[in-house]
Amino acid sequence: MSFFIDETHLFSGLGAFLHDKLKSQFKDQPDYQFRDDIENAIDEKLPNKHTISVDGSKIKVELFHSNVNSEELAKIEKVINDTFKVCTEYNMVPKDVDTNFRMFLFEDREQYVDILKSSYNYDAANTAGITSSQKNGLLTASDVLIYQGPKELSHVPFDDIDYFTLAHEFVHCIQNVVERKGYLSTSVTEGMADAFAGKALGQEIDALYDREIIQKSIKALKSDNAKFSDMYYGSSTSDFSKTEDYHYIIGTAIFKFLSDKNPKMIQDIVNYSLTGNMDKFREIWDYMHKVDNCDKFTDWLDDQCNQYHCMEAII
Ligand SMILES: [Zn+2]
Repeated sequence: MSFFIDETHLFSGLGAFLHDKLKSQFKDQPDYQFRDDIENAIDEKLPNKHTISVDGSKIKVELFHSNVNSEELAKIEKVINDTFKVCTEYNMVPKDVDTNFRMFLFEDREQYVDILKSSYNYDAANTAGITSSQKNGLLTASDVLIYQGPKELSHVPFDDIDYFTLAHEFVHCIQNVVERKGYLSTSVTEGMADAFAGKALGQEIDALYDREIIQKSIKALKSDNAKFSDMYYGSSTSDFSKTEDYHYIIGTAIFKFLSDKNPKMIQDIVNYSLTGNMDKFREIWDYMHKVDNCDKFTDWLDDQCNQYHCMEAII
């Protein structure tokens, strides 16, 4: 028996009826059984599920989507595995965690916003992706929701998959399942996700942000006399710290500065976060204040500023 139907017969009577019926049976029907209210809410919107086993771990990523082709799926698998490798390089590895993360890829902005509101009670605002760790604290799976349709607010070409956001959110999933004993500020947590995602994709992080935002941020940091330690510990009370982009820009600045000037410190920050080791804490504290005292960070900001002026002049 063949399911092939002649398109020209579909526009009247029985043809249209059959067409709708077949469409609902073969196209919109999910290829999985929903297991909870969230999967029930999305099963017709994202009817395909593709499961990725993350190399060198017991982690699985279940990708729910509507229209991702096999080439893109292969690239997503590579991005997830490469991102996990970067986490492993920094010893940010969940030990024997047998878990699954879910990633919901929406092409329709309204659907993305609706599900976030109704199932997660979260206001999407201008986000491109969200990671929500489910109730009851550590060692639970994380859900990731990504909007990957036309991008008025993102850094990727019109119909490409937002691999960077995908990698960034996957780092958050790992951050959520590793046992953390030391506190990191929101900016550091976000900056780490961007730094690791950038490394996995081989992309410069700041190339992904709007140049104007970076320039404005650098200006704001300079005029606020931002101290590196305030930014690191999240104690800044400047006007800039009240803006929406603050945590991302600050996190990016922190990790870009550390990659340039003291990459070992990134290892120490991850180590402190996992162990809560007080010797590590003191080492990091001393370093942050040393940077403040010798104007190392402000000099670096000046360099960045010049660099962006130059780049703009070229364009
Ligand atoms: Zn994030």
